[in-house]
Amino acid sequence: MTTPESPETELVTSIANELYAEGPVAAVPAWEPPPLPDLSDPPVSPAAGLPMDATPRFYFLPDPPPPPAPQPPPAGLLDVHAIRQDFPALHQQVNGKPLIWLDNAATTHKPHAVIGALLEFYSRDNSNIHRGAHALAERATDAFETARGKVQRFLGAESPEEIIFTRGTTEGINLVAQTYGRRFVGPGDEIVVTELEHHSNLVPWQMLCEEQGAVLRVAPLDDAGQVVPEEYERLLGPRTRLVALAHVSNVLGTVLPLGPMIAQAHQAGARVLVDGAQGAPHLPVDVRALDADFYVFSGHKLYGPTGIGVLYGKRALLEEMPPWQGGGNMIDTVSFEGNTYKGPPVKFEAGTAHIAGAVGLGAAVDYLNRLGRERIAACEEALTAYGMAALATVPGLRLIGAAPGKVGILTFVLAGRTPQEVGARLDREGIAVRSGHHCAQPALRRYGLTAAVRSSLAFYNTREEIDALVAAVRKAQRGS
Ligand code: PMP
Repeated sequence: MTTPESPETELVTSIANELYAEGPVAAVPAWEPPPLPDLSDPPVSPAAGLPMDATPRFYFLPDPPPPPAPQPPPAGLLDVHAIRQDFPALHQQVNGKPLIWLDNAATTHKPHAVIGALLEFYSRDNSNIHRGAHALAERATDAFETARGKVQRFLGAESPEEIIFTRGTTEGINLVAQTYGRRFVGPGDEIVVTELEHHSNLVPWQMLCEEQGAVLRVAPLDDAGQVVPEEYERLLGPRTRLVALAHVSNVLGTVLPLGPMIAQAHQAGARVLVDGAQGAPHLPVDVRALDADFYVFSGHKLYGPTGIGVLYGKRALLEEMPPWQGGGNMIDTVSFEGNTYKGPPVKFEAGTAHIAGAVGLGAAVDYLNRLGRERIAACEEALTAYGMAALATVPGLRLIGAAPGKVGILTFVLAGRTPQEVGARLDREGIAVRSGHHCAQPALRRYGLTAAVRSSLAFYNTREEIDALVAAVRKAQRGS
């Protein structure tokens, strides 16, 4: 066990020790708090490290953040063992064994950079935003809006006004269904989805169809887990108003060919929402190159905090959409005769946002950019190929999802053992996987299943961890 070197490290260690009463955490690497900026005159924005306006601003939105300095593309491979030192939660014992976290599709662990950003925000900048007449309100607003700029650049969006902070993917999809959908989808109109969608990208559309008298049409999958292109094309027509597509399947790992699928939908006159919950964490995203109308993702699957997510929408569409929730922040004027509303993104951000969450998400985005998103994708691709090959050596194990170019979501069933039995057996070895329907019952049903085991990889996983998974699956099979 390493000697804690800072009060923050000590705190993390003691919390972890309390939670995991079976024994002390193996090694919580020391964490250096980020240097605190000098808050003396002139005031400095802690988030951007930039001088702030000396004049107090009331009811303000800050100027757009400056464009990032050009960075040379990172070269070489990721050093996974060094990277693991950034993630304190990976260094603990579970059931007497070192934790092997293969439940990354459910949520990812957080690097010190994210934990530190939350700590820093709550320790110093904590304030409500946009409405304050004091220094902390200005700092918190600046930190929040700086995070919006980081997400804008992360997605390749044109302007920060196109980035709406939500609670997560689910809320982003519901927002579009209940604003864009209610206004632009009418009786007899059609919404197209695919058979591999997460329930979050199905149920809101089913509810909308029921409410509006519209029809849901479903593009089927082939045996490998790919959407059948001809069937998808056949479903698009003059009544198609909206197409809702996963970027990456959370059960099969399939990466959808978004470029051509979006272009075809646009040819039919439809708008396209992309559920990027499993895409953004693994693959570089450029919403303008994709020409996606909406793109949603969750912070917690992207190494950021829970309770924060993003809805990207093309500005012209966001302008056309009515507000969603009503309340503070989103209004311009309120009277008993009638209200006026702000423009996007604030129009869709009623009430107090998850301010610290947005700041933490900004830190996660910075962290991923530092590692290099192309390098992350390359590292995960190699790990996925290794994992697929290793699991395939287990007799009686059936892998679900074999689309070329899939990401590291390795779902399987084991002859003679229920997924629950396998999951419990792996947990005894300290290996965290998920067993169940993975909120994608239609996708599993396509392969004759109601449940399966899902191991899902991140760039901080190692080949040794995959070897341990395979060994534990063999034990589960033997019943030992
Ligand atoms: N879509 C996909 C593809 C997902 O994997 C998930 C999370 N499992 C969601 C949507 C929902 O995400 P959240 O629960 O963070 O809103």
